[in-house]
Amino acid sequence: MTRTAPRRKVLISGASIAGPALAYWLNRHGHEVTVVEKAGALRSGGYPIDVRGTALDVVDRMGLLPRLRDAHIDLRRLTFLNGDGSEVTSLHPHAVTGGIEGRDLEIRRGDLTDALYEAVRDDVEFLFNDSVATLDQSAHGVDVTFRGGGSRTFDMVFGADGMHSATRKAIFGPEEQFHHYLGYCFAVFPMRNTLGLSHETVMWNTPGRAAALYATGDTDEVHAFLNFAQPEPPFDAFGDPQTQRELIAKVFADAGWQVPAILTALHDADDVFFDAVGQIRMPRWTSGRVALLGDAAYAPSFLTGQGTSLALVGAYMLAASLADRDHAGGFAAYEHTTRDFVTRNQNLVGKGGATLFPTTAEALAQRNARLRGLSTLPVPEPRPAHSSLTLPGPGDRVTRRSGSRPSHNGSCRS
Ligand SMILES: Cc1cc2nc3c(=O)[nH]c(=O)nc-3n(C[C@H](O)[C@H](O)[C@H](O)COP(=O)(O)OP(=O)(O)OC[C@H]3O[C@@H](n4cnc5c(N)ncnc54)[C@H](O)[C@@H]3O)c2cc1C
Repeated sequence: MTRTAPRRKVLISGASIAGPALAYWLNRHGHEVTVVEKAGALRSGGYPIDVRGTALDVVDRMGLLPRLRDAHIDLRRLTFLNGDGSEVTSLHPHAVTGGIEGRDLEIRRGDLTDALYEAVRDDVEFLFNDSVATLDQSAHGVDVTFRGGGSRTFDMVFGADGMHSATRKAIFGPEEQFHHYLGYCFAVFPMRNTLGLSHETVMWNTPGRAAALYATGDTDEVHAFLNFAQPEPPFDAFGDPQTQRELIAKVFADAGWQVPAILTALHDADDVFFDAVGQIRMPRWTSGRVALLGDAAYAPSFLTGQGTSLALVGAYMLAASLADRDHAGGFAAYEHTTRDFVTRNQNLVGKGGATLFPTTAEALAQRNARLRGLSTLPVPEPRPAHSSLTLPGPGDRVTRRSGSRPSHNGSCRS
């Protein structure tokens, strides 16, 4: 009689990008996976997201690349406007983002969450409208109680619950220790495409303020985006939509161009994503039988455009690290093989990221001069950080080596 080892039972908190991607790979590696999501269903809103570099290999290995290529937005133009609505310059978006034409993907966030969910929903248990109430680790497992009632024991628990992760708070303590605020807040919400925009973004700026409209196609709706400098994080606004709307209305009160219409749309929108622009930086992402991934562990901020790609790559590397190891060995391999990639991408801020949103008139004039110069460059340069990790192959072991750099499998390129 053949005896097989019992499948390890694992819980993932959060069903956005990192959670379902990890669920897919852990299931493929033979784990019994449960995902708990506090929202009642998948949340599909938000600004379009980028999948680049190594993350493309992850979605390719999941068999999702053709579907995501079909969903590619093909943004053709990025137009910058002065405070009075006059044009600064119009560019190909890749000149600013460092994306690679014909390879990198830009898709609606909901198209990616749908694809990930559909890839895994038949093999994995999803608990919507619920969340973890308590986590209690022992040598034998993690005892979890759920807010919706009931308790279970898992071999491992994973926090894929975003920038303001409750899993991180429960295991590692308050967010303030890890949150590196970058001095801005932003809101994203849908509104009517009254300007007839198509496959393009138009961005208006004054010092410390930006308003953009993003048209993914010839659709009736655009994504509105408001970004503003704020010296301290407005802690009272997080989790309080009314305070968020009041804060934004105050900041943009005298703004020109389409901003009054955007503020009206904000007032009426019921699907607003508001957050601080910041990074999560932690010395360790794992503790005992609990590991963090995605924004919960290493949010890079939208200024890098790499949040989704880090979540996808992190999910793959974490599952691959655990494939033939216990939690202690697997978590050590995950930390070791993935950190350099994460750091390189987080460090993209400061190399052209926040400089898109200058806070003084002088810095804005300099930015505009730089952007006008970019429009004369024929080929934008790709960013090496996006592809600076080679995924281990399905049969490879994610190796740990002494020294600072991982080697052949899960290797980093400079
Ligand atoms: C609705 C939405 C819109 C977004 N829009 C943008 C945007 O416009 N621009 C941008 O830069 N980034 C946006 N993001 C964040 C972006 O998705 C992430 O930066 C990136 O894709 C990494 O994904 P993640 O899965 O690690 O985290 P996230 O995408 O933040 O997902 C975290 C998930 O965990 C769930 N969750 C949170 N707390 C708990 C809990 N206690 N228990 C169970 N589940 C929990 C959340 O509902 C969410 O589904 C958005 C996220 C969401 C959820």
